Amino acid sequence: MKYTECKAKDKKYIIGNYPRYPLMIKSGHGCTVKDDTGKEYLDFLSGIGVSVLGHQHKNIIKAITTQTGKILHTSNLYYSQPMVDFAEMLVHNAFSSKVFFCNSGAEANEAAIKLARLVGLQYGKTKNKIITIKNSFHGRTLGALAATGQKKFHAGYAPLPGGFIAVTANDTKALKKAIDKDTCAVLFECIQGEAGVYPLSKDFVKTIYTASRKNDAIMIIDEVQTGFGRTGKLFAYQHFGIKPDIMTLSKGIAGGLPMGAMLARPHLAKLFEPDKYNALTGSPATAHASTFGGNPVCAAAALAVLKQLTVKGYLNKITYLGRYMKDRLSRLSKKIKSVITDVRGMGFMIALDISLDAPSVRNTVQKKGLLINSIGTHTLRMLPPLIAGKKDIDKAISILDEALGDVKILTRGR
Ligand code: PLP
Repeated sequence: MKYTECKAKDKKYIIGNYPRYPLMIKSGHGCTVKDDTGKEYLDFLSGIGVSVLGHQHKNIIKAITTQTGKILHTSNLYYSQPMVDFAEMLVHNAFSSKVFFCNSGAEANEAAIKLARLVGLQYGKTKNKIITIKNSFHGRTLGALAATGQKKFHAGYAPLPGGFIAVTANDTKALKKAIDKDTCAVLFECIQGEAGVYPLSKDFVKTIYTASRKNDAIMIIDEVQTGFGRTGKLFAYQHFGIKPDIMTLSKGIAGGLPMGAMLARPHLAKLFEPDKYNALTGSPATAHASTFGGNPVCAAAALAVLKQLTVKGYLNKITYLGRYMKDRLSRLSKKIKSVITDVRGMGFMIALDISLDAPSVRNTVQKKGLLINSIGTHTLRMLPPLIAGKKDIDKAISILDEALGDVKILTRGR
């Protein structure tokens, strides 16, 4: 099928909520993807931070192929080896916790929000407030949306679940003022990804830690975008000298298959167990569930990803190459003065603000063979696969350099 036919069919049959980029991806290998004409693109977006080991990684393909030869789905009514093997390795590489599996980042955050409410309920019916951060992003389902500190995403969906209070990022005073004995949790991303890659300050994260401890509230860290090596450590909280009480994961977890997870400290995780939940709430129902959660094929892929990422020293190169990429972008910003106004991020999670129209630059860059994305009108974001090397980075920067020059000339000409 060709691009134009695909586009027409998409328009006819698929709900048009996504304003898609003008490209039909047919295949991928390593750091590159190909379109319907066979043209190759350097993929510095990884399906929005998902394909952490690039495309067609041999270990993932092998794990999936082996598992599909056995069984595709079991449901959570039965025990399953891929699920327990992955759970064991995940917990051992995170913090003292137990895991709940689901299918997406939003679903992981829904689980975290529900568990936080149970944590509060142990203290009394009014301890249900959740502090969030302005400009955060936690997903599109109603609970995760209510937690998302960007009003533009709330429009049209009232009434949203209540009990969420968003404070300004890095404003320790506002945080201390908002948090009190009725707060059951503080939910945050260490680096706000969808907002345009804005890291929280170490001081602010420390204040979240001390203020939540003081008020018997828990810390929920959303690592949906930052997890699985993206920032140069397996999880971004490891840069901040703290450990979460609950952590949510998705995106890169299974290297391209849909999966989500919520890790909770064992004494919190217990609240989702039938006897604790039933005693606490008086309800005979199951506390929480998800039909596909921990699917054996996804779990097998996830285990292959985690085995690769935890090879000794594997993530060191992300720190080094991330710095290299930021340095090259900073040098570029000096070369083409007043076009790049800021470069920020950590590891392979990098954004740049530009004075030009970001969607036009993104499209020009794409035509020249590089995939990145634009956030709003003046920010570009890069989330390369973690297998990208120096040569790939050099190629990406040179395409960006050319494209920024082209768009600058075009804009000037108008
Ligand atoms: N949390 C963060 C930090 C995210 O970046 C995203 C998606 O971009 C989500 C949650 C939602 O994940 P999903 O789209 O898998 O529901």
